[in-house]
Amino acid sequence: MITTTRTLLFVLAVPLLALPACTKPARANVGTIPEVDRRIDPCTDFDAFANAPWRTANPIPAQQSRWGRRAAERETNRRELQALLEELSRRESWPRGSIERLLSDHYASCMDESRIEDLGLAPIAPLLDEIDSIRSPADLQRGIRRLHALAVPVGFGLAGAMDTREPRRFIANVVPGGLGLSGRDAYLGEGPELVQVRDRYRERVAHLLALAGAPDAAAQESSRAILALETRLARATLDGKAAADAGATDHPTSFVQLEQMAPGIDWKAYYADAGMARGDLNVEQPGFLRQLDAELRETPLSVWKAYLRSRLLDSASPFLSRSFAEAADGAPRARRCVEWTESLFGDAVGRKYVERHFPPAAKAKVQEIVRALLTVLKDDVARLDWMRLETRKTALAKLEGYDAQVGYPDRWADYGAVKVHRDTFWANVAAGRKLAVAANRKRIGKPTERDLWQLPASSPDAYIDLQLNQIVLPAGFLRPPAFGLDRTDAENYGAIGAGVAHDLTHAIDVGGSELDLDGRPRPWWTETDRQEFQKRGRCVSEQFEGYSIEPGLHHKGSLVLGEAVGDLAGVRVAFLAFRKSLEGRPPPAREGLTPEQRFFVAFAQLRGDAVRPEAQRRMLETDPHPIPKFRIIGTLSNLLEFQQAFSCPAGAEMVRTAEKRCAVW
Ligand SMILES: [Zn+2]
Repeated sequence: MITTTRTLLFVLAVPLLALPACTKPARANVGTIPEVDRRIDPCTDFDAFANAPWRTANPIPAQQSRWGRRAAERETNRRELQALLEELSRRESWPRGSIERLLSDHYASCMDESRIEDLGLAPIAPLLDEIDSIRSPADLQRGIRRLHALAVPVGFGLAGAMDTREPRRFIANVVPGGLGLSGRDAYLGEGPELVQVRDRYRERVAHLLALAGAPDAAAQESSRAILALETRLARATLDGKAAADAGATDHPTSFVQLEQMAPGIDWKAYYADAGMARGDLNVEQPGFLRQLDAELRETPLSVWKAYLRSRLLDSASPFLSRSFAEAADGAPRARRCVEWTESLFGDAVGRKYVERHFPPAAKAKVQEIVRALLTVLKDDVARLDWMRLETRKTALAKLEGYDAQVGYPDRWADYGAVKVHRDTFWANVAAGRKLAVAANRKRIGKPTERDLWQLPASSPDAYIDLQLNQIVLPAGFLRPPAFGLDRTDAENYGAIGAGVAHDLTHAIDVGGSELDLDGRPRPWWTETDRQEFQKRGRCVSEQFEGYSIEPGLHHKGSLVLGEAVGDLAGVRVAFLAFRKSLEGRPPPAREGLTPEQRFFVAFAQLRGDAVRPEAQRRMLETDPHPIPKFRIIGTLSNLLEFQQAFSCPAGAEMVRTAEKRCAVW
């Protein structure tokens, strides 16, 4: 069974520790919080021992469903970026062409709300005029191409992406695009809630069209026609489940086949305009493309023009005056300007962030930790008795070739060609988008670039890419509680070490076993390997079935198995690597904690989010990660190393008996 796809890859590439953004951060008064709660016996409840003081001092903010040190540090990361951009923007005399000038001018243009207000609709008036002047199907196509170059989603989307069958190459991938509501169900589903969603959407479209000058009645009529067009297109899309299925979206297509699939689209002109090489591509949903082709022939030009207007207005509205931007999320302006600047000019923001917050010594230290983890894990795998020799060889080769990208990419994007000014916010956004679209298109038909990150270096998140056999750890993520240059090795190995080691096991566990050394979907485990893995995993899934949040509500062992096994291996591997790094010269205890104890405390504090009961119930149903408390207790109670570090007696809550102890890797 092939379980890897472009879509699945996307799922795997989501941030490892993603948390919703928060606008009112709880400010931790770190200085007064004791490191651990000494009234609690670590052998009874290690989660409370390591996390109770912080949780008491930092209750979950009202608008959040979970909260912990990582979430609080995200806020610090955002504040640092804001301070950086504010500082840069105060000076106007940075040299032309420098990234300082780019960031200074762009951030200032975003913050200049009175200028944005004065300009009103003017910044996009030329684009609206172009849409107005559409008189023929050929003009319409030109309009679509023009909007695509500015990353305005209309009709379909075409972007360069890794070929999931041959990850070493980068090809064009065609997807459904330009639907204002998310997903098929939003257009076709029944029930009062969805009807309301559609009504509100139609109202919003009518409102935007009216703001842009359409008489009210015409705006209403257009909004109905637009919703009808989008509904017909939505009917031809796959539902969420099918769209996430490998087989359903894997349609290798030649350029000639693409022309046959949707002859109404002038693909030659599209490719020529975009400067793209015509080669093999993938069409995720051919059915959608055929329907779009039919609509381009059958739907009146006037409806298409209104649709293009509405998509442009929707895409540009956050960057226009207040009456357009009203649907925005209510976050403070500075916060949004930070996010927008980072998402448009990520490498410029990342460079400045790294200059200030991530010295070369930090990169070297994390690389050293990753190397130490790989050495221990390879050693472990080489001696694994349940895996066949051949399988072990592939696992070792995967670890040998593992690519850990630390802090910042080897190359930074070049923004030299982007023209940005302090008083033209939308034009700056458009220039940034244009550059990003062009850069992506230029890569089509070329080998995949491994150092092309999906997150900026300033990001507080990290991700793994199973197909590229890669982990990406941005500088913005490599900060306490995950990592700190001024922290002890015990803390760094216990936090980032255990986290990275966990992710390394994904390269060779059930998920990684579907992908060969080059990331192609070719399983390399035999049925015997799988059965042996499952046999050992059963211990872990039964253990987690035993953890409940209220009577009758417990973890589904099969759902959390993969992550729980990853944690178990991660902590053990990191601990062994830490021990090795001491080279027999253990540092002295500090503030009453031995280095070994500090290692486990660091692990528990990185993972120790408090989660609201409703959110815990949701996690039991859908989250492959165990609830933080059980991630900590469940993992550590399996480890003899933990028992020894805290001299826990046999029979303590945090000690599973020898016959119950689980071990997979
Ligand atoms: Zn994991």
